[in-house]
Amino acid sequence: MSRFWSPTVQNLTPYVPGEQPQMQRLVKLNTNESPYGPSPKALAAINSQNNADLRLYPDPEGLALKKAIAHLHGLEPNQVFLGNGSDEVLAHVFLGLLKHQDAVLFPDITYSFYPVYCKLFGIEYQTIPLGPEFEIRTADYIKPNGGIIFPNPNAPTGKALPRSEIEALLSENKNSVVVIDEAYVDYGTASCIPLLHGAACPENLLVVHTLSKSRALAGLRVGFAVGHPDLIAGLERVKNSFNSYPLGRLAQAGAIAAIEDQAHLLETTNKVMQTRKCLVEELKALGFETLPSSANFILTRHPQRAGEDLYQALRERGIIVRHFKSPRIADYLRITIGTDEQSNELVMALKDITNNL
Ligand SMILES: *Cc1c(COP(=O)(O)O)cnc(C)c1O
Repeated sequence: MSRFWSPTVQNLTPYVPGEQPQMQRLVKLNTNESPYGPSPKALAAINSQNNADLRLYPDPEGLALKKAIAHLHGLEPNQVFLGNGSDEVLAHVFLGLLKHQDAVLFPDITYSFYPVYCKLFGIEYQTIPLGPEFEIRTADYIKPNGGIIFPNPNAPTGKALPRSEIEALLSENKNSVVVIDEAYVDYGTASCIPLLHGAACPENLLVVHTLSKSRALAGLRVGFAVGHPDLIAGLERVKNSFNSYPLGRLAQAGAIAAIEDQAHLLETTNKVMQTRKCLVEELKALGFETLPSSANFILTRHPQRAGEDLYQALRERGIIVRHFKSPRIADYLRITIGTDEQSNELVMALKDITNNL
């Protein structure tokens, strides 16, 4: 604390990211990174831009990347907004599209960055409790609001809603923006992006994606939002009032190649989904209860063991997972799906830990 901090800074509650430990030989299953590398074509593209042209600013609009994203998703480039990771995209979304008189609505258990942005930007928000099975009940969101945001699938539950339900929400919520954060959509959920196709594109749907999870480029920092051109234009106004060059030359080149390599995406996400299926079964045999997951992580608990204790016991064995102290999920662990090998190490450790009950 310093007397030079502005009142805003004094009152902030910053987001706490999962740790990035420097120790070697850890089984790191705590921040939902891909266990596989990015597309080799992305790495080659980054290398090809590693030259003296780095003295030049990058394209502030990132037009080539917008075209690649638009092409992949059947959209126009003016329906695409780029950011330095989807966290930055989300920051601009909160300030530019969700700050209104009425409160923003999001689930009580969800991505914990949302309330952080609300406090930073002075946005009123109201959390809507998940149902008894940790499900998002869209009917609970039908009320006056300044905007609605949730991930689909939700984090850290991993539970997904069908597209039809989000479509129904949109048709009942015409007076504010509905933001669907699809960070984990590539692990078996239908994306809402097709709703944006052509003349039927709703004025108030924004879909946010990241290259950090399924595209295995968390270190490159690239995210994007797609929606109606008027929403995108609003976000561009915010971005150009903050940082005109959020994506460097290397990031733009790598992201284009990654977006174009659908084969790599499918291969690696299929492997993760296969490992997820096996892991859930093996955990079940050890007495764990796991929420059905459509993401590259699971939320699981052991009825006889506190989440915090399991977290510590795994940590002592060099396996890092995520534990949230929040009320309804304090007895759960959020475990990122790793390679089959990492999964086996995890299961062996949990077998050992639960045998010592
Ligand atoms: C990981 C994650 C993000 C942020 O990803 P970036 O690395 O900033 O692109 C956004 N939303 C959710 C729900 C996430 O889990």
